[in-house]
Amino acid sequence: TIGKIFDLTVGKHPNKEAIYDVRKNLRFTYKEWSLEVDKLANALLQEGVKKGDIVSTYLFNTEELATTFFACAKLGAIFNPINFRLMSEEVAYILNDAKPKVVLIEQMLESTISPIVNRFPHTAFWMIDDEIPAYAASYKEKVASASRASIKANVQEEDLYAIMYTSGTTGRPKGVLHSHRDMVEQSLIVISATQLDSNDSGLVTAPMFHCAELHCAFLPRVHVGAKNTILHHFEPQKVLQLITEEKITKFFAAPTMWNMLLQENLQDYQLNSLKIGLYGAAPMAPALVYACKEKLGISLVQAYGMTEMGPAITFLTDDDQISKAGSAGQACLNHEIRIIRPNENGRTDPDDTVPAGETGEIIVQGPCMMSGYYNNEEATAKSLYKGWYYSGDIGYLDDEGYLWVKDRVDDMIISGGENIYPREVEDVLYTHKGVLDVAVIGQPDDRWGELVTAFVVRKDPTLNEEMLDELCKNSEELANYKRPRKYVFCDALPRNASGKIQKFMLRKRLEDLTRVNGQ
Ligand code: AMP
Ligand code: MG
Repeated sequence: TIGKIFDLTVGKHPNKEAIYDVRKNLRFTYKEWSLEVDKLANALLQEGVKKGDIVSTYLFNTEELATTFFACAKLGAIFNPINFRLMSEEVAYILNDAKPKVVLIEQMLESTISPIVNRFPHTAFWMIDDEIPAYAASYKEKVASASRASIKANVQEEDLYAIMYTSGTTGRPKGVLHSHRDMVEQSLIVISATQLDSNDSGLVTAPMFHCAELHCAFLPRVHVGAKNTILHHFEPQKVLQLITEEKITKFFAAPTMWNMLLQENLQDYQLNSLKIGLYGAAPMAPALVYACKEKLGISLVQAYGMTEMGPAITFLTDDDQISKAGSAGQACLNHEIRIIRPNENGRTDPDDTVPAGETGEIIVQGPCMMSGYYNNEEATAKSLYKGWYYSGDIGYLDDEGYLWVKDRVDDMIISGGENIYPREVEDVLYTHKGVLDVAVIGQPDDRWGELVTAFVVRKDPTLNEEMLDELCKNSEELANYKRPRKYVFCDALPRNASGKIQKFMLRKRLEDLTRVNGQ
């Protein structure tokens, strides 16, 4: 169980630095942290939290979120980290669905909670900061007055441990259910893929509510007794400063974060402690991968996966970053990936696979697979079939077993009857030096079905449509019908907290633009 691996680490590395919360300038050794975990677990117990009850956090990256993660584990309570980007009604939806006993909140997010709080009279809200709203209790006081006794709950590895709501590009968020065992397995897989040990110094800067950070970076580091420097939220200069000061060896960042880091004056920092940069959660254009390798001089490991799978299902190792650029790598240990024939009229059987090189839906099996979605049998039945998780991503396996993810089924553009994967077009546009960020979508069109449309954020203000069209025309990688027929230059692309471009927002923007311009 997660509680057990925590105790083992504490026993093995009591005096090693465990966490450093940058915002509070607070440092704990593993022994000190373990006492905090026990006190919080006792405080939750006093509040009536029992095994199987849900505890939510609506927090940025904080020591309190990290401590709650392990306090829940010890109690056998179910940990529910809520996306801090969500707005009042979205949070209310999750609180309604999960019905947590306790919700941890912080000052910077309080204004989202206050309008909905009276709908949840049976939920205790604990404020981690000093200014306590009337409806909330003080986290600090709860913990200060709690017993220090170590918790002895009967927790088994198959017990549920987390509910993680996935954003989803359409529809309501779904609560992904994971057991203790799922997470311990995931942690082991990451430890081996990123060669973690207790000498590592990790930086938490991607959102901790998301499994990419929580399960692929933070948890494995605690598992081996490494250090976690916790940065409240991503700020490029702060990240570079912390790498310099805390001699960070490994960290995870979403592609958009890597892109922002590269725009800074890197020569002002000491980055030579860095060994491995992990990236994933969204596609990263090969051009950006090359730039990271060149400018940062580090090893890179890509993870591809989804919350439902724990999340990682493939890794692309550093050795393969150039020779297999654009691929997501090979299946993680103990995972199997198949590509099945897409079928519009229902579920394709998992045995109905396509030959190597042919594109279809990616399905996967592995030890960290969710048991289902909370309170949602219909969605569960759609995603889990005959022991496989149906990802809704499209891609192919090459003859060496490398996975190439093309796109989301829902994002595919069909223009003039041809399938176009936006990612292929984005990867080509990214190679232009004047491009900072790009997203390609289909605009509904009477004649062609959909028109390939590129949203571009410029690095170079003189960049124009003709220059990009020229690039696409000359590209060996892009057939003529895939060329964008329309460009929209903008200041920024809408992204969710894990770095994924919110294409539904771009479609909406395009609709509005079309209405205004009548084109
Ligand atoms: P979530 O569970 O919210 O993180 O979303 C999972 C989805 O993110 C996957 O189904 C993919 O569409 C996308 N994704 C995650 N990792 C990668 C990656 N390395 N490359 C491309 N897409 C990714
Ligand atoms: Mg499992």
